[in-house]
Amino acid sequence: MINISKLYCDQITPGDWLRYGRKDCGERPGEVIPQTASSRRPIVVWNITRTCNLRCVHCYNDSGIGKSSSEITTEKAKAAIDDLSAFGVPSILFSGGEPLMRHDLFELIGHAVGKGVRTVISTNGTLIAEDTAKQIKQLGVSYVGISLDGIGPINDRFRGITGAFERAVQGIRNCQRAGVRVGLRLTLTQRNVQDIDGLFEFFGAEGIERVCFYHLVPSGRGAAIANEDLTHAQTREALDRILAKARLLKQSGRKTDILTVDNHVDGVYLYRKLLAEGSPRAQEVWDLLTWNGGGLYSSGVGIGCIDYNGRVHPDQFWWHYDLGSLHDRLFSEIWTDPAEPLLQGLRDRRSRIKGRCRLCRYFDACGGSLRVRADVLLHDPWAPDPACYLSDEEIGMTESPSSGSRSAMDDLDHQVLEALQYDFPLSERPYEVLAQRLSLDTDVLWQRVERLLEQGVIRRLGASIDSRKLGFCGTLVAVRVRPDMVERAAGVIDRHPEVTHSYLRDHEFNIWFTIVAPDSSRIEKILHDVCRELSLEPSDILNLPMKRMFKLDARFNVRL
Ligand code: SF4
Repeated sequence: MINISKLYCDQITPGDWLRYGRKDCGERPGEVIPQTASSRRPIVVWNITRTCNLRCVHCYNDSGIGKSSSEITTEKAKAAIDDLSAFGVPSILFSGGEPLMRHDLFELIGHAVGKGVRTVISTNGTLIAEDTAKQIKQLGVSYVGISLDGIGPINDRFRGITGAFERAVQGIRNCQRAGVRVGLRLTLTQRNVQDIDGLFEFFGAEGIERVCFYHLVPSGRGAAIANEDLTHAQTREALDRILAKARLLKQSGRKTDILTVDNHVDGVYLYRKLLAEGSPRAQEVWDLLTWNGGGLYSSGVGIGCIDYNGRVHPDQFWWHYDLGSLHDRLFSEIWTDPAEPLLQGLRDRRSRIKGRCRLCRYFDACGGSLRVRADVLLHDPWAPDPACYLSDEEIGMTESPSSGSRSAMDDLDHQVLEALQYDFPLSERPYEVLAQRLSLDTDVLWQRVERLLEQGVIRRLGASIDSRKLGFCGTLVAVRVRPDMVERAAGVIDRHPEVTHSYLRDHEFNIWFTIVAPDSSRIEKILHDVCRELSLEPSDILNLPMKRMFKLDARFNVRL
């Protein structure tokens, strides 16, 4: 989730403690802010039933009227809640199908609340009558998220039932009247993207403070409408509209909580926008984004899912991959199984991720976004997220050497630079050894090194041999040449293969170079040739033969 109100509009919003490690306005007494995003226990989305009174075109678990299956029993569900509570899960999000169609939903919610777990209901809202809303309030549900995908008929076509919009709006009003914290969930597609302004007007008129804009995930029935997903250009336009509207709301004094979900690229987009605006908050936003890590600490880390059969998944879009079943093991055991390959991969995605995500300078903030989208569309969970709408240039893949910036280097760049500086392997294939140490493909390591060379972060890679041990001798030379002669002098000096390197200094002796040669007579010959070709006087050249060698530990702390 990318909290636009927090990041772009500088508002304090509920959930900041868990999302960004900061105090917020909804924190409960005794709630401990996690030290790191990676150490968080997951928010668990629990699709408690497959039955639903609607038939939405984008339903990720193919729910509907009459669709039931061997759902987990009340007794088993309560035992699972006990385990989730003991495991430290901060929140259970009861979803479906339509969770209100499950006969024991309120019993389970009451059980979870009694165990001190936050509870959320994710519903289509059409079944929230006045007394239902009052019950929800009495139970202590933290939040109700109601799905709407457009105004009036747009929503109804999406939902597959005429009148769904009116009934959902009534559900929202009932919640508001009962004092239940309520917000909207909305999936952006070709069907509703033109009406973002109209949607914001609707939020304003209905007094809705919290809205989550979802990006389409082609999972479940969502796969069938993948062709209705936004183009990258439309996604950018939609983000621009949402950002502008959120800021206007803030300026008008309205308290809002506007978020986008399922594409962590939005965080980077927003950060770049702040930079372009010259906002003094850009650095703070970068810090928040990198604390959160985007996809890095999302599926399989900060979020998990249980389906109606009690099967556990890395998130609610991974139903094609089971981590285990509550019929066999506790959630806490499944979640901490060190042998589960996908979970381990998701928790160590940095070393697995490929292509442009691997090379992206914003990886620390985005984390390669949504892995399930790569898995479903490209059949490779470590491929780049196809929904990334930033250009190669924007993510730094075509950056010119002079445009390097602090944020252009990510943690993997730091690891590579450290590996090159410290303990470089003496081996026939040193880069294979380094790649192994870093758990990378050798090709990926090379891509990184090449980019760092292109950017000028690495100037040269090469051996530094102790020439004396090979019987050679060396000297440091300084020459004084007229400023208009510098280029020509450098050419004359560097033509000699024995010159290891030369450099310009702000001194009357303005060109300095070192020579390593088999003997001193060869050095004398080189100096004689240089003086002759450049018409230098003996007083224009200093020959400073090496007497003792001192080596400085010139390795750099690249993380400063
Ligand atoms: S290239 Fe990958 S890591 Fe970078 S912004 Fe796009 S999805 Fe995120």
